[in-house]
Amino acid sequence: MPENTVDLLIIGSGPAGLTAAQYGARANLNVLVIEQFAPGGQVLMIDDLENYPGNAGKKKGYEIAADMHTQALDFGASFLSAKVNGLKKDGEIFTAILDSGEERKAPAVIMATGAAHRKLGIPGEDKFTGRGVSYCAVCDGAFFKGKKIFAIGGGDTACTDALYLSRLSGQVILIHRREKLRAQAWLAQKVLENKNIEVRFNTIIKEIKGDKKVSAVVLEKEGREYEEDADAVFVFAGTVPQTSLVSTENLKAELDEQGYIITSQKMESSIPGLYAAGDLRSGTFRQVVVAAGEGAVAAHNAAEYINKLRGTSY
Ligand code: NAP
Repeated sequence: MPENTVDLLIIGSGPAGLTAAQYGARANLNVLVIEQFAPGGQVLMIDDLENYPGNAGKKKGYEIAADMHTQALDFGASFLSAKVNGLKKDGEIFTAILDSGEERKAPAVIMATGAAHRKLGIPGEDKFTGRGVSYCAVCDGAFFKGKKIFAIGGGDTACTDALYLSRLSGQVILIHRREKLRAQAWLAQKVLENKNIEVRFNTIIKEIKGDKKVSAVVLEKEGREYEEDADAVFVFAGTVPQTSLVSTENLKAELDEQGYIITSQKMESSIPGLYAAGDLRSGTFRQVVVAAGEGAVAAHNAAEYINKLRGTSY
């Protein structure tokens, strides 16, 4: 096998990619995981992973990620820190083009690049990112101990992270544009019962103001705009799938209307040899345990695909 060629390329190393790496290596495949940041993905930003099975001892997100990484390494998977700029398929072989210009090749690829934070797209958001505007409570919450914090959104992330922030500040204000939280019932209940969190329903954030850092927000409720002092704005407005590598002229997998990859139950995309697992997969239940499970399924089926190819041309 040429030096830059492996059996299975995995792009992304959140729980889906790390579990796929473990299962791929255990299936005796030569596995390379390419990750542009650090192994763990969004799990690194989760403080209390209380709904991950087996985590009754309450390991932090980064501890679970480190364990998953160690397991994948112990089973023989290799890791490369690089950004994949392009992906193409010639015959039965995929080529990943790295930002260095180098290439890595394999007959099967698992896309596990997950989803990124969705922005609000309001004035002041970009200007004050890193200066009071944040998308990650675990990363930046400590900078705002005891401060007046606005959290935006009504989903699981908004609720989980508002609860985290409520341990740092008695003034957390959750702004949600509807009259009901969309988070899972148990989480929503915890938020509504928390004395440090004030939930404002039917409210929209229109602008983030400040000079060198955030000092105020402009809010709107029932057509009435008002301005209020603020020290921080944490945005939890959902996610955008990271699927640009498979929606190009070179490689076009079938995506749903929101840009998530459509797969079979075997995690196969519309392109033979290309699999998807985790948050970037259409219709998935976006949970760490589900991403890990999908990574295992994708690796298992990729191994079967590769073995069939080996029986023929590969
Ligand atoms: P989400 O479920 O898509 O929720 C995004 C929230 O942001 C929604 O409440 C949405 O409002 C609001 N929003 C979107 N655009 C907005 C805008 N421009 N202005 C104001 N509000 C806006 O995303 P998520 O909470 O990040 O969750 C992503 C996935 O991860 C979900 O599948 C979730 O179940 C999972 N997750 C699970 C856990 C857990 O189990 N503990 C924790 C975190 C995440 P609307 O309600 O009006 O649409």
